[in-house]
Order: sequence, then C-alpha cells, then structure tokens
Amino acid sequence: MELFALFGNPVSHSKSPLMHNLAFRALDYDACYVRYRLQNGSELKKKFFELGLKGINITVPHKEHAYEACEYLDPFAQKVGAVNTIVEKDGKLYGYNTDAPGFLKVIKEFQNVKSILFLGAGGTARSTSVILRDEGYEVTILNRSQARLESFEVTGFATANFDTFVPKQYDLVINMTSAGLEDDLLPAPIELLQSVIPQAKACIDVIYGKETAFLKLVKSYDIPTKDGSDMLLYQGIIAWEYFTDHKYSFDTIQPHMKRAFIL
Ligand code: NDP
Repeated sequence: MELFALFGNPVSHSKSPLMHNLAFRALDYDACYVRYRLQNGSELKKKFFELGLKGINITVPHKEHAYEACEYLDPFAQKVGAVNTIVEKDGKLYGYNTDAPGFLKVIKEFQNVKSILFLGAGGTARSTSVILRDEGYEVTILNRSQARLESFEVTGFATANFDTFVPKQYDLVINMTSAGLEDDLLPAPIELLQSVIPQAKACIDVIYGKETAFLKLVKSYDIPTKDGSDMLLYQGIIAWEYFTDHKYSFDTIQPHMKRAFIL
C-alpha cells in the first residue's frame, strides 16, 4: 500500500485526507492519505522518508520549505517558488504546484472575464496571479501593506495599497487574503470595496467552508459569488493525478473527491 500525507501546521481542519481517501477507495487504488502536523519545515524531507511516504501535499506555512526539499521542480513551481505537491520517484523528490492550475480552472468557468482585482499579496496570490497573467488575464494586486507588493511590482504587475488605489471596473474581484478565515474582518476598507464590487461580474473568496464578511457584502449587491471549495477540489484532483502517475483522468476522479464536500 502507498502512503500519502498532508504536511502543514495546522492540519486538523483540512478536507484533503477525506478527498484523497474517497478517490483511492472508489477507484480501488491501494493507498491511504493521512494528515501530519509538521512544526519545523526544515525537517520536511527527513520526515517524508522516515514515514515511508510516496507523496505529500503541503499547506501553510511550509510551501517554501517544500520547494527547497525537491531534487526536481516542475517549471511552473520553479517559476513561482512554491510547491504544494511532492511525489517520490526512485528516492528523489519531485515538486509541483497544483494550487495555481486548480485556481485557473475555477476562473475559466466564468465567461467574458478579462480584468481581475486581487485583494491580497501573499503566497497564494503570487502563484495564482502568475498563471492567470500567463493565460492572458489582466491582474491588479491590491494589498494592505506596501512591503508584499514589491515583488509583484518588479515582475510587472499593476499594484496598489489602500492609500494609492484608484477604483475602476474589474470583471472579477477576489479575496486572496486571510481576512475572514478566523475572524469577521473585511479584506479592505468598506468604502474601497463598495467602489469595485457593484461593477464586478462576480466576486470570489478563496476561503472555503464559511460565508465570510466579504461574501456577505457582495451578496448584498446581488452580485454572483463563489467560495474557495472548487479551488480546493481542483488542486486536490490535480495532485491526485500526480500521486497516481496520471492513470486516471480529471473527470474520472472529480465525482469521487467531490463527495468530501457533501459528507
Ligand atoms: P499569506 O499569509 O501568504 O498572505 C496573507 C495575505 O492576507 C497578505 O496579503 C496579508 O496582507 C493579507 N491579510 C491578512 N489579514 C488581513 C486583514 N485583516 N486585512 C487585509 N489583508 C489581510 O496567506 P496565503 O496567501 O497562503 O493564503 C491566503 C488565503 O488563501 C487564506 O485565507 C487561505 O486559507 C486561502 N487559501 C485557499 C486555498 C483553497 O484551496 N481554497 C488554497 C490556498 C490558500 P499584509 O501583507 O498586509 O499582511
């Protein structure tokens, strides 16, 4: 039996073990997926081999450590400097980023979208903004602090902080911050949000499993909303494809993993 795990801290809240195990069981793949609370990210590689794992997903705060641990990096993971999926082959660790292609699939389900406003400039914003731009979307990054915007500026993104932002029409407005995750905060001052939400075709929050203050505000304008569930599902399916060496198609895996969201 092959053993897979989620490495992160915390990991107790995660749906990933249920998602992956549902697909393993339904498709009769001899494997099991567990969660492992890793406190020290620099021990990632050591723990991987000690536990006899075949593959892992990596969540907050270890995606950069995961990047460092790999002998081989998929070109996109290399470009964005973040790995959330590792597979062992012949004693070597191969690293991938499935967050970004998963998120791209979410965005492609919206019609007639060109301009996108990201609220937030953290690690998730970094990988997803790059893949969206590579696909031809115009991405603007708005963040509370100036410090995190600098790496976006040097790579040519339009950026603003709360003081410098000049409102315009965006097709999608996306909360990429952790505001709302464990509190009821909005990701930006309400006046600023009121200047962009009413003109948007839809708004997305990457947080899943709750109605955030941001989504509540969007709904008050009757604008379509989406939470982070599909992003989580799609990154998981793409990771599962790597874990099982692409023996199953995305569409075959999807209905089984999706059951994790109704159980
Ligand atoms: P990071 O810690 O790297 O970045 C956090 C970002 O949130 C920063 O831009 C920070 O701004 C901003 N922020 C935090 N608190 C506030 C606040 N109160 N008001 C305004 N801005 C705030 O986080 P990640 O990029 O890793 O994750 C971001 C979100 O994405 C999280 O909620 C996470 O749960 C979610 N996520 C969802 C996934 C899914 O599958 N659905 C996958 C991955 C992530 P500043 O620079 O000013 O501190």
